[in-house]
This record gives sequence, structure tokens and C-alpha cells, in this order.
Amino acid sequence: MASKPTSTAPRATLPVSDHVPAPYDGPSRDEILSLREQYMSPGIFKFYKEPLTIVEGHMQYMWDETGKQYLDAFGGIVTVSVGHCHPKIVERVREQVGRIQHTTTIYLHPAVAQYAQKLAEHMPANADLNSSYFTNSGSEANELAILMSRSFTGNADVIALRNGYHGGTGTVQSLTAVGTWKFPASNTINVKHAAPGYCYRCPFGLTYPSCDMKCAKSVEDLIRYETSGQVACFIAEPIQGVGGVIDPPEEYFQIVYDIVRNHGGLCIADEVQTGFGRTGDHFWGFENWGVTPDLVTMAKGMGNGIPLGACTTRTEIARTTAQRLHFNTYGGNPVSMTQGLATLEVIDDENIQENARRIGGHLKERLLELQEKHALIGEVRGKGLMLGVEMVRDRSTLEPAAEETANIMERCKERGLLLGKGGLFGNVFRVAPTMCLTTADADFLSDCFDEAIGECSGS
Ligand code: PMP
Repeated sequence: MASKPTSTAPRATLPVSDHVPAPYDGPSRDEILSLREQYMSPGIFKFYKEPLTIVEGHMQYMWDETGKQYLDAFGGIVTVSVGHCHPKIVERVREQVGRIQHTTTIYLHPAVAQYAQKLAEHMPANADLNSSYFTNSGSEANELAILMSRSFTGNADVIALRNGYHGGTGTVQSLTAVGTWKFPASNTINVKHAAPGYCYRCPFGLTYPSCDMKCAKSVEDLIRYETSGQVACFIAEPIQGVGGVIDPPEEYFQIVYDIVRNHGGLCIADEVQTGFGRTGDHFWGFENWGVTPDLVTMAKGMGNGIPLGACTTRTEIARTTAQRLHFNTYGGNPVSMTQGLATLEVIDDENIQENARRIGGHLKERLLELQEKHALIGEVRGKGLMLGVEMVRDRSTLEPAAEETANIMERCKERGLLLGKGGLFGNVFRVAPTMCLTTADADFLSDCFDEAIGECSGS
């Protein structure tokens, strides 16, 4: 039963931050919008009917130009991991910016070397994942992982997953398999897409566990029929983010990793969204599935908002980039690395992963309660503070409730809650707040979401 539309005044109350934003005296929202429309590419999309201007941030909150406070439950698209302008990070970066900003890795600098060591220490024991190449983005990290895998194995074919997202540059755009992110001229050479473990919309129309994990096992046939039988690698997000927060059945990755390795391929975990404690129980997303990849790519939460990414692998695989010249001008620059180092220290010192587990668990429970109440909620899924809520018009046909999702997002924004959305049909709410979220924030989020759904049901 769909809940009845209500017109009651909002009850959900946003916890008030003790941070006081500085007065804003810059251009108005309309002036910024007009500059954007005149001088920026129309391909750079915006959220909301009336685009939002954000001029300040502190921990889990952000402020617009009028001084209105918002709970940032999308964290700069799963990127602000420990909080906006975290004081400890700001202090360290300020000091670094005043000292030196750019050198390139042709010279030595302590921050990049120390970070590489610290990152290796966060990898599973005995995995030998101790050699890192730093980049400015997740796309660049994935480009490197594919290059290294192809060079190491001597094979060209890459297996990626349907509904996966791996970036917007050449090779990795061809790995991406969410149609709305593909271009008619996208390059798709030597990439084969396998079925994801998306049980709610099973690609085979089956039901877990009687499906016998057909999605994972079908990778064997994909390789047999569509490749020479030898592949370079398999790349996947441990939980698909852009595709709508898809967490597969537990055994999915073990089955696929075995098949890929039997056909000579390496396994790449794209941890751009799932890494750095976000899934709560584990530091890396892949650890939830009992597998160890050969290469790990990361970005977003790693830098808490500064451009920073990496591809980490075993030295024998990393050595492939030494056979020719390879270089990244800004990769490993002192400012990004200082911010990365300070972010990792905050994650460790402030028990950020544990907070993601605890608050994420509470939030998921609250969202599951809302599923009982609102027929529009088809499924609640995800781990830690990487949660997804799939909205459907009809629980038996699974017709996507895209328009309703957009309307609910607008209502949440009015109440001071900023959510993300994704999925092929744009009908999945993505809840990925900064990981310093409190119980009071999680309760506000759930109450606000509840009221907004109530208002939009049947609309
Ligand atoms: N991989 C995943 C899983 C991502 O979510 C993204 C970005 N949304 C990327 C790679 C690409 O990262 P970037 O935008 O930093 O290039």
C-alpha cells in the first residue's frame, strides 16, 4: 500500500552545527549560474531544479550562500570521507602549501614515500600489495591497472561488469557499462561485460540461492566464447556505486576470481568508492567477499576531497611500467600527498571505519523500517555508510520510480538533506555521507526521507 500524501509541516530537525559559516559576499546564485551557462560545457550536469550553491563546509555539514545549513549525505559524491575541512587536515595542508606545492616525483619528497608505506600497511597481510603509483583521479588509477595487467599477462581482453562504472577517460569509459554514461563514440575494444550479482533485478530472472550463482558462473562461458581463452584481467567494484549500490551474494567474487585466474587473468578491485573504511566491517570493500585482488585502485575518500588516486599492486606487476617511460605530472604532488596522509591518520586515530559500521548499521535499520511503511521503497541495500534505496512504482513489476526519486530529492533538499542518486534509471538513492556522521544525523536523515516520501507518494 502506498502511503497517503501528507501536507504536514516538516518535523525532522537538522542537528545544528556549532560551526558558524563566514559571511558570504560573492556573486549571487543567479550570477554564478549565468557564468556557468555562458562559459562552461553544457555536458557538466547539475543536481536539482534550482541548482544549489555551496560556499562552505565543516565536517558533515555544508552551507549555501544564504547561510542555510545542509547535511551532506552524498559527501561530494562519496569523496569527503572524514568531514569537510577537518581541522587536523586543514592545518597540515596549510603548512604544506606555504612550504612547497609542486615538484613532481622526479625529486624525492617525504609525504609521497611515507604515504606509500602507510598504504601498504593497510593492505591485507601477506598480499604483497605494496607498490603504489599515485594519480589525480580514479579514472587514471584504473587506466594504469589495465595497462599493468595487459603488460604483465601479455593478454588484451578485459572482463568488466555490466552496471559498473570505472571512469570517464578513454579505456575506462569502455569498461563502464551503465548506458547513460556511454557515448555513441565510446571506445569498447577488448572489453567483455559479464553479469553483475544484482539479485533485485537478476539479469537471468532467477532467485538466490536456487539460481546456483549463474551470474558469476557465466563468466566462464563469456571467456570461452568471446576471448582467446586467455584474459588480461577482471575489474569490478566490490559494491557497484554509480550503478545503484549493488552488493552481490557473498560467494560471487570468489567464483569469478577463480574463473578469471584459471584463464590467466589478474583481478582488479576498484575501491574508488568502497575503500578507506566506508563499508564498515572492513577497510577495503573486497575484504567483505573473502577475496584478495592482484591490483587495487582507489581515489575519492582517499583524499577527503583533494585530487588523489592510486593503483597499488605487487612489485612484479608494478615493474611493467618501468619497461618504457610513464609519468603523471601531478601524481604524488606534496599537497595531495600531505592531505592523503593526514586523512589516513584521521581515519585510524578517530575510529572512522568503526563509526561507518555503527552509524551505517543504525541508518540501514531505520531505512529498512521505512521500507515497511512506504511501498515506493523496493529494496534497501549496501554496507556501512554506502547504502542504496531503490525506488519502484510497483513491487512486482519493479517499474523504476525515477520521477518520484527526483521529487523526493527536491523535498529533502528543501529540508536541509542532500542525497545522491544513481542506477541506470536514476531510481536509486545513494546514501554515502561523510563518515563522521552521528546517530542524530542518521535519525534526521531517516525522518526527513520518511516525510519527503510521504509527501511524494502517489504524485
Ligand atoms: N571508479 C569508481 C567506482 C567510481 O565511482 C569513479 C567515479 N565516480 C571512478 C572510478 C572514476 O573516478 P574519477 O571521477 O576520480 O576519475
